[in-house]
Amino acid sequence: MAKKVVIIGAGGVGQVVAHKCAQVSEVFGDIVLASRTEEKCRAIAYGVKKKQRVDIRTARVNADETAQVIYLLEKEKPDLVINVALPYQDLPIMDACLATRTHYLDTANYEPKETAKFEYSWQWAYREKFEKAGVMALLGSGFDPGVTNVYTAYLAKHYFDQLEEIDIVDVNGGNHGQPFATNFNPEINIREVTAPCKHWENGSFVETKAMSEHRQFTCPDNVGTFDIYRMYHEELESLVTHIPTIRRAQFWMSFSQNYLNHLQVLQNVGMTRIDPVLYNGVEIVPLQFLKAVLPEPSSLGPLTKGRTCIGVIGQGQQKSHKKSVYVYNICSHEDAYEEVGSQAISYTTGVPAMIGAKMMMEGTWMKSGVWNLEQFDPDPFMAALNKYGLPWTVQDPPLVG
Ligand code: NDP
Repeated sequence: MAKKVVIIGAGGVGQVVAHKCAQVSEVFGDIVLASRTEEKCRAIAYGVKKKQRVDIRTARVNADETAQVIYLLEKEKPDLVINVALPYQDLPIMDACLATRTHYLDTANYEPKETAKFEYSWQWAYREKFEKAGVMALLGSGFDPGVTNVYTAYLAKHYFDQLEEIDIVDVNGGNHGQPFATNFNPEINIREVTAPCKHWENGSFVETKAMSEHRQFTCPDNVGTFDIYRMYHEELESLVTHIPTIRRAQFWMSFSQNYLNHLQVLQNVGMTRIDPVLYNGVEIVPLQFLKAVLPEPSSLGPLTKGRTCIGVIGQGQQKSHKKSVYVYNICSHEDAYEEVGSQAISYTTGVPAMIGAKMMMEGTWMKSGVWNLEQFDPDPFMAALNKYGLPWTVQDPPLVG
């Protein structure tokens, strides 16, 4: 039976989720898109009607206020909330889901506004409450986190007796032609890339200076060769917790020299600060002001050309041989724009959000409590990635000797 879903957040990712859910109307029979600025929801609804020939409804909600989300959920009575607003709203929306016994899914872990801290502790603390309420929360169902968690579980299940090392490599080989812009919410993106790096090494996280470690990476299928920088990313925490054979886990992301130069200047002049400063008698947070003057990620859709290449390289033992296996997806910015009107960063996040929601609504992945994606059987999710726009490839060199 078709289900009812409320999507919260009408940015780049929200747009993709709305289109992809509309494409799967046998599962998502009734879709409501709600956000702080309802005009943005209406613009997306118009696009969905035009491209997918599906009507979706819209609503206004400030998801910082649990009471407003509860009001919306009591009125709409959805089966599931897909939260693609900002990480700051995770806990208020989870509270509203608990109060109304509604299933929950997001794509980024909770962050308090005043510190750039990326950890699951706050959301994992909801486990018992969700179990007791008989509802499920699926955390981090985007690409990274999300598909990278599923890839890792898939490698552990099918390619290794013991998975020991993972390198998650996120390359954006696209170009939007702007002097400086971020591919998803600028505030969240800049908080993430300016944070100290942490990687997992023999049972604990080792901290190093942000962007201090880099190497070159050549992507398959002629996407190109890129400088990739080691940084902290939230899936490292859940993966080493749930797959304890992993001894070393690192996350790498590509950045152009141009992006890094701009970031360096912005940091040097204090524009990436997240503490309030007094300006003309008003408190402003420099990074929030910077977001207001940078291009909206959703405006990059028609401008971005090229491809992303995101994957996981796993190393470990199989039949007493040490081996390395690489699983990845390549996604074209232009194809994503053609299909849903968004660039590939939003597309690669929104498609897995829809797939995670579908897994839950069909009962394939359905358990009360709070879960990360690697805690479920990866096979049905991997099959759905091939079907719904993010096909993957495995490079598995033959064992030698
Ligand atoms: P955008 O900034 O483009 O969109 C965010 C949306 O959330 C906007 O519509 C915004 O409304 C809305 N919003 C913000 N605050 C509130 C609030 N208090 N109440 C209701 N709505 C609110 O971001 P993206 O679409 O690029 O990213 C969305 C999420 O996806 C983020 O959490 C991001 O971290 C995550 N993400 C995850 C990835 C992954 O692979 N796992 C990759 C990329 C992103 P308004 O327009 O009024 O500001």
